[in-house]
Amino acid sequence: MNKRHFLKQSALLSLGGIVSPPFFLASCKKKDPLEGASYGGKVLIVGAGAAGLYAGYILKSKGVDFEILEASSGYGGRLGKLTNFAKFPIDLGAQWLHGKKSTVGDLVSSSNTKITLDNSDSKYWYNNKLVSQLPQSVNIFEGNNLPDISYKDYAIQKGLGNDYKYIVENIAGDQGASASKLSVYYNNLEENNWSSGDDDFKFQETFYDLIDSQIASAVKSKIQLNTIVKKIDYTLSKIIITDSNSKTYTADKVIITVPITILQSNDIQFVPSLPADKITSFSKIGMGPGMKVFMKFSSKFFDQNIIGGAICAAYADESVGKSVSDNVLLAFVMGDQADYLTSLGTDKAITTALLNELDTIYNGKASAAFIAAHVQNYTTNPFIKGAYSYSTIGMGDARKIAAQSVDKKLFFGGEAMNINGHHQTVHGAVETGYREVVNIFNSL
Ligand SMILES: Cc1cc2nc3c(=O)[nH]c(=O)nc-3n(C[C@H](O)[C@H](O)[C@H](O)COP(=O)(O)OP(=O)(O)OC[C@H]3O[C@@H](n4cnc5c(N)ncnc54)[C@H](O)[C@@H]3O)c2cc1C
Repeated sequence: MNKRHFLKQSALLSLGGIVSPPFFLASCKKKDPLEGASYGGKVLIVGAGAAGLYAGYILKSKGVDFEILEASSGYGGRLGKLTNFAKFPIDLGAQWLHGKKSTVGDLVSSSNTKITLDNSDSKYWYNNKLVSQLPQSVNIFEGNNLPDISYKDYAIQKGLGNDYKYIVENIAGDQGASASKLSVYYNNLEENNWSSGDDDFKFQETFYDLIDSQIASAVKSKIQLNTIVKKIDYTLSKIIITDSNSKTYTADKVIITVPITILQSNDIQFVPSLPADKITSFSKIGMGPGMKVFMKFSSKFFDQNIIGGAICAAYADESVGKSVSDNVLLAFVMGDQADYLTSLGTDKAITTALLNELDTIYNGKASAAFIAAHVQNYTTNPFIKGAYSYSTIGMGDARKIAAQSVDKKLFFGGEAMNINGHHQTVHGAVETGYREVVNIFNSL
């Protein structure tokens, strides 16, 4: 999810004017830089999320020998599918296609996958009332000369009162950040590169199904699951990877696509150490906590989008875009709010806190109609440790440095390494998978 989705119809912000050059792989049909390319070496990919899967898919199409090492027991990373909860399948991770002008948009078209424009209505929980429009129009977060300070500090500086606290939290939350950490300057700078289109689409089935059927199915046999990479030794010409069972794997090139949190917390040891500026760049890329909670009810008492809650700043009706309706509400919780809910410790406590908030908004109707909940907390997943990357105060060129290859042997992909403004998204991750295969061929 991102702000293109939740704030599109908001009186708070006008989000027009995001124009930037098209990504070279998108529908514009530029010459394929891999045309005629071939390579006889072995490539190992670390991580079977969208980036790793797509890198494998492209390597396969070029006849290159490769394998994907994945820590968890399934592939997909921050894409996943929940069945048997509602009348329709649910995306546990990514669920919106943010604009169609991308490689993933092309896959949707070529596979005839059914998607629907999400133009659902938003209500705002403002000043303890549910309102259709906010009383003031405060288009302060876009424009020129924006300062490199947090959304929270900027809102205070511009005189937005406490009434707006959770609306601002929602804006930052769309970026996977708390309002006190997201940089107004760098977020706008990075957003200005966005080129995949401003409309958001929902899948009639799931986003997971698209990636599974169109990309993962082609490389499934090359994925080693339950393989936690612990060490990457690139001292010699052959790179040696060691997993948590001390099993070793040898390659000529390695593409690393793990979440930035994994690199930040040194879960993978590099021998020799990575260059100092690269390590610093990892620490300058933000990735905060995030979770999705799906709540099923016996009636539809809720609006399509509810923005501005103190426990969850963004609720959304999961039925939108599905072929059958069901009373399932998504609580999309990011930043400080995700930290708070995670601190409650159990799924039951998380659900109760959300139900209490919905009861306040809808006069007790939530608890009365509650059937079941599913909590998907990406923060506590040891191989993800958060939601998705965001623009921090003082981040500078961090993404560019983080994405640079090392010694023509180590290549870095994944959503956080997207430098075209498409970080935080599936199509952004896919773009890096392709980019790093191109970089491998360019390194030969
Ligand atoms: C709640 C939520 C909602 C989102 N909504 C949307 C949306 O609507 N639309 C959208 O476009 N995007 C959305 N995103 C973002 C999108 O899901 C990600 O940008 C994208 O899936 C990231 O892909 P990736 O390949 O970069 O990383 P990942 O999917 O995280 O893949 C990295 C893989 O590396 C593995 N790994 C980690 N450590 C190791 C190790 N040591 N050894 C081996 N493997 C390891 C992990 O298990 C994981 O499978 C959402 C994300 C979240 C969390």
